[in-house]
Amino acid sequence: MRSWIIITLLIIVSTMFYGCQKKVITEKASMDYVQNQLDKLAPVTLTQDLSYLPAKEIQVIRLLVKAAKYMDDLFLSQVYHENPEILKTLEQSKNPDDRSYLDLFKIMFGPWNRLMEDQPFINTIPKPDGANFYPEDMTKEEFDNWLQNHPDDRETFESNFTIIRRKGKKMEAIPYSEFYKDKLKSVAELLRNAAELTSDKTLKTYLNSRADGMLSNDYYQSDMDWMDLAGDIEIVIGPYEVYEDKLFGYKAAFESFVCVVDHEESDQQKKIEKYLNDMEANLPIADKHKNFERGSHSPFKVVNLLYSSGDTKAGVQTSAFNLPNDERVREAKGSKKVMLKNVMKAKFEKCWIPIVQTALAKKDLDRVSFAGYFTHTVMHEVSHGLGPGKIIKNGQETTVNKELKDIYSIIEECKADVLGIYNSQYLIDQGVFPKELENTLYASNCGGMFRSIRFGIDEAHGAGVAIQMNYYLEKKAYTVDKDGRFSVNDRKIKNAVKELAEKLLMIEAEGDYDKAKALIDQYVYLSPQTKEVVNKLKNVPIDIRPVYPIEDTIE
Ligand code: ZN
Repeated sequence: MRSWIIITLLIIVSTMFYGCQKKVITEKASMDYVQNQLDKLAPVTLTQDLSYLPAKEIQVIRLLVKAAKYMDDLFLSQVYHENPEILKTLEQSKNPDDRSYLDLFKIMFGPWNRLMEDQPFINTIPKPDGANFYPEDMTKEEFDNWLQNHPDDRETFESNFTIIRRKGKKMEAIPYSEFYKDKLKSVAELLRNAAELTSDKTLKTYLNSRADGMLSNDYYQSDMDWMDLAGDIEIVIGPYEVYEDKLFGYKAAFESFVCVVDHEESDQQKKIEKYLNDMEANLPIADKHKNFERGSHSPFKVVNLLYSSGDTKAGVQTSAFNLPNDERVREAKGSKKVMLKNVMKAKFEKCWIPIVQTALAKKDLDRVSFAGYFTHTVMHEVSHGLGPGKIIKNGQETTVNKELKDIYSIIEECKADVLGIYNSQYLIDQGVFPKELENTLYASNCGGMFRSIRFGIDEAHGAGVAIQMNYYLEKKAYTVDKDGRFSVNDRKIKNAVKELAEKLLMIEAEGDYDKAKALIDQYVYLSPQTKEVVNKLKNVPIDIRPVYPIEDTIE
């Protein structure tokens, strides 16, 4: 009886204690788990030679990195309201194990593992769908009801740039420019200082209008100005993607990329753009299915990343992006596709090479190269813009997307992959790409397929790769030796690529759902040979963890 009293007293006292000193970390996943997750991401130092830039422009870059650092704080608080407290607790912890928890927390921007469908590794609370954009306990119905009863609130509530909070019994939408006022003021000031210093007129205009946007909450003009950037420095900073808002997909998350332009590669892209019509003409389908009106409103720029922060740095690293998202800007000026070459190179070395070393026979292993991988990635993107888009079916105007419905992405990703090779070969034949590329292109493509397929064939990219892999195996364009290693049959591959391209393009041209479904049923599976290779890849990192030396030069 007495012991019960003591225990009860203890509980009361400890509740009182924790009541005034709230404990933000109550539970943690095992150390093994955390280490395992960290091992999935290979650390990479992203260095970049900037010696060709005038000293003043390097100073500009430093100011931009300083501004970009704010995006980390802003995004961290957008993800979860307890995040700043958890971060502080881990940083101040005397327990050496907590270093690993801190590392993972910083990578994930919160206590949930983005690599494992947001499994919690600190505490056991599931991640709120609305992140910290909405009141944590707000339901979809409550939000919808509010708008039903207050139709005038729709625009501000659904805005990409407002936070929803309760005020007594009411709800209100607070503009980012107000909610994050102090930090955004500091960011705007840094952007203005950089604008003052740079001699790049296009950058000056963008930085000034972006600074205005941070304070006015209106980013339209700066998105327009971003399309015109034409100098050495390329920067993205502010609220952009809405994926973190899993409740509605309305609210934009803060992020930044600070980059320098790779002029040589970007010029090569301009050359490719000149051949868009020729590539369309060369597609292996009848002329009546070709689509010369799609044009390209998506110029390519190749850059090297110096620093990234916020949303884009969380979890898996971005190697290319297409911005801005504002439809009004896309309508007026199109959008810009930016490829981060040094990030791609890092992924190639850390995650891609170990895979091909396992997957390919010696003959082809000797032929793989970053050039082969990079060219195919670029041409994959270019190829999304080629082939049927708007089509006529049963006398009605429609689109491929509408007709192929749920399986459209599988067919379209597969098409972009296959045409990526087909069009690269065309540009080699035209002398746009060097002849040596041919030697590396097919082997690099074959090896690279295992990188997509290891993440599963349920998702569009993986399924698209399974189609190619099994089709080429069936046509003996790929062969597997007794050690389970793959190689490309140079005599058969070109024809197999052309045949598969034709099949995919005709499915799209005719908007033929049944044929698409049949192709998927026939080829989307993991062959025993593929499975054997994938099973050997368990310890290969799935992505990189970038370290930015430039960060150390900022006070
Ligand atoms: Zn794609």
